[in-house]
Amino acid sequence: MTGETNPFKNALKQLRIACDAMGINEDIYNYLSHPQRIVQVSIPVKMDDGHLEIFEGFRVLHNSARGPGKGGIRYAAEVNMDEVKALATWMTWKCACVGIPYGGAKGGVTVDPRKLSVGELERLTRRFTANIINVIGPETDIPAPDMNTGGREMGWMMDTYSMQKGHVVHGVCTGKPVEIGGSLGRTQATGHGVAFCMHEYAKRHNMKPEECTVVVQGFGNVGQYTCLTAKDFGYKIIATSDISGAYYNPEGLDIDEMFAYISDPAHRTLEGYTKAQKISNSELLELECTFMNPCALENQVTEENAPRIKAKCLVEGANGPVTPKADEILESRGIDVVPDILANAGGVTCSYFEWVQDRMALFWDLDQVNKELDKIMLRAFDGVHELAQEKKCSYRLAAYFIAVQRVAKAIEMRGIYP
Ligand code: GLU
Repeated sequence: MTGETNPFKNALKQLRIACDAMGINEDIYNYLSHPQRIVQVSIPVKMDDGHLEIFEGFRVLHNSARGPGKGGIRYAAEVNMDEVKALATWMTWKCACVGIPYGGAKGGVTVDPRKLSVGELERLTRRFTANIINVIGPETDIPAPDMNTGGREMGWMMDTYSMQKGHVVHGVCTGKPVEIGGSLGRTQATGHGVAFCMHEYAKRHNMKPEECTVVVQGFGNVGQYTCLTAKDFGYKIIATSDISGAYYNPEGLDIDEMFAYISDPAHRTLEGYTKAQKISNSELLELECTFMNPCALENQVTEENAPRIKAKCLVEGANGPVTPKADEILESRGIDVVPDILANAGGVTCSYFEWVQDRMALFWDLDQVNKELDKIMLRAFDGVHELAQEKKCSYRLAAYFIAVQRVAKAIEMRGIYP
């Protein structure tokens, strides 16, 4: 990782920029630049062929001034401590930005899940849960899905925790299947929120959906539902991508067909999809379009390619896809960025609803979930948009102003223990 692509360094840089602009007290900066708790575990897993493999697992609680830690668990070969620290830090700002009563946390395991059988993945998830059992819980730190994890993993996690406690604890994690305490709408929520923010941005800048072209980098959970919701709002999606490459059609992609294609267990990726031109990931990022929504990984838009980005606005479906240096370049070129801590907050907001429903043991219908989700997203978008206008600053800086201010206020009101 170079200086520019170390996510934790980038997270600290963003905090530094926000604290300087706000004139925030140095003690608060210091407090917030140190994660509250860092746990690293070794996870022994008996593989199908009988040999033992050890995986590294992480859980970081960045801050709990506003409530218990909240944030996903990712499985990827590149997962490392600095990445998890950054992602936990961003969760603190995300929950504060949309005003839900959580602090920030994140977890991960360094593993390429495609190389494991379902049985191996289950044993890995259960042993990881057991190894972090003393730091997670509905009142302390609540995991959820992130990259390469989903309802299945959350089901195993909830079951392992419940077995250890001796009773069912639905609220220990979110993103569970609806049959075991999950919420309707959670699977779609992150992508729905990304498309919602893009649409709100368009409305405020007098842009009409039918006149906009949209590129969505990444056709995983977030990208898929960003595309599907954007299509329902009337936008034309001209390109998307996954690990097999990028797919471009200037006339507009058939999103329903691509969704069906990737959902087919015989495919699982877009490899072999022929109704689009195959291009590279870097070509996709540099396409001429109205909106470019990076919904894949960190560090996709850097100092190197930011000068060649042609979109009018970026909406960050992923966490940390634009580096601070790229941010400066985009801003100087008049390209707006709707930041991750606002744009992809739909997922954690719906997780909040799931946790509330689990604790009440009273479940909402989809209409109620979506209505509440749009209410929170609209309130957050409005707040950030208005502050950005008032201060004549970027959306990211405005979102950080709101988020950091809320966390700083909570620390100040609670005081430092003892
Ligand atoms: N992993 C998601 C995120 O980055 C969701 C977290 C959650 O639902 O707690 O926002």
